[in-house]
Amino acid sequence: MGDLYQRFPVTVAKGEGARVWDEDGKEYIDCMGGYGVALAGHRNPRVVQAIKAQLDRIITVHGSLYNKTRAEFLDRLTGAAPPGLTRVHLNNSGAESVEAAIKFAKRHTGKSGMVAMRGSYHGKTAGALSVTFNPKYKKGFGPMLEGASFSPFGDIDALRDSTGDDTALVIMEPIQGESGIRVAPPGFLQDARRLCDERGIVLIFDEIQCGLGRTGKMWAAEHWETIPDIMCLAKGIAGGIPMGATLTKPEIMASIKKGDHSSTFGGSPLACAAGSAVLQSLSEDGLVSNAETVGSRLHRGLQELQEKHRVISEVRGMGLMAGVELRCGVKDVILEGIKRGVLLLYSGSNILRLLPPLTISEDDIERVLETIDAVLNSVGRDK
Ligand SMILES: *Cc1c(COP(=O)(O)O)cnc(C)c1O
Repeated sequence: MGDLYQRFPVTVAKGEGARVWDEDGKEYIDCMGGYGVALAGHRNPRVVQAIKAQLDRIITVHGSLYNKTRAEFLDRLTGAAPPGLTRVHLNNSGAESVEAAIKFAKRHTGKSGMVAMRGSYHGKTAGALSVTFNPKYKKGFGPMLEGASFSPFGDIDALRDSTGDDTALVIMEPIQGESGIRVAPPGFLQDARRLCDERGIVLIFDEIQCGLGRTGKMWAAEHWETIPDIMCLAKGIAGGIPMGATLTKPEIMASIKKGDHSSTFGGSPLACAAGSAVLQSLSEDGLVSNAETVGSRLHRGLQELQEKHRVISEVRGMGLMAGVELRCGVKDVILEGIKRGVLLLYSGSNILRLLPPLTISEDDIERVLETIDAVLNSVGRDK
């Protein structure tokens, strides 16, 4: 793995649902959730079964040939998608789904300006990086794509000022993940939708982290009753098998000619079999409603902790997507959580992030809350 990752002292050997075990058999509740990839739970039984069955048929079929497993997945995906997003390009990661979205919007509009939000995260390949805000990710890798600018998240007047005749696209996460779980303020998505309609700008929602039931609704943008022109998905969509998906309105995909864009691995039957199982699990096993009910218990509990611990400055999020901003660094909190059997994630140096599998039980959430309480007591005492 080189030294590209900041790593924590756990060697994970096995997982099931919202639990993982290390090599010595120690059990953890997984609120890191593979940065959201473990959305449908580790080794979700439907996913395991679907992958096993697909392995006995075929693993790879290029997009230039038909495949029933892929067709079934695309039907399920467009069936669950926001109305109108009926065309899909399958790829293999979040960044790739953003790259495709950028190209599609540019081709469709014939323009090249890109407006993203301050605090945005869209991936680390060249195009996606150009619309990612944090300058630390870009240092030494320039020049970025031409025409990218950033507007404050939630400020419609600023967005109006930063868009113009040359703007091809506006891209945003309805709930910003990497920058610390920041929820769009009321009205912002609707206003952005209206602005993009007025100016013929393609509105792209990156639901890679906040989509697929995470927030208690299938799509985060449903909380604001707003439908984008393009939606990017990845992370948990195929139960841990790499997959990205770029969903568009038909008129946008109609601007893309055969051969303009492609992905060799995209839409492999293996990933599609797993993806169908995830979508089935989300609806038939009640994972989206679980995210809502267990998620509201989580947020209530975190707010109670905020009243108790002065070190917590803010609690944010929706459903099973939570950010806890601290007045201290999070590293010791995460290390102490590991000792006590809870895996937590961070966003930046002082924000705890929780992205547990949507299968997590209320009992496990209670234990997570008790653990954070105990950890904040012990970390606070050391100071
Ligand atoms: C993780 C993430 C990406 C990038 O996904 P990769 O698969 O790591 O390329 C893009 N956007 C958002 C919102 C993400 O959370």
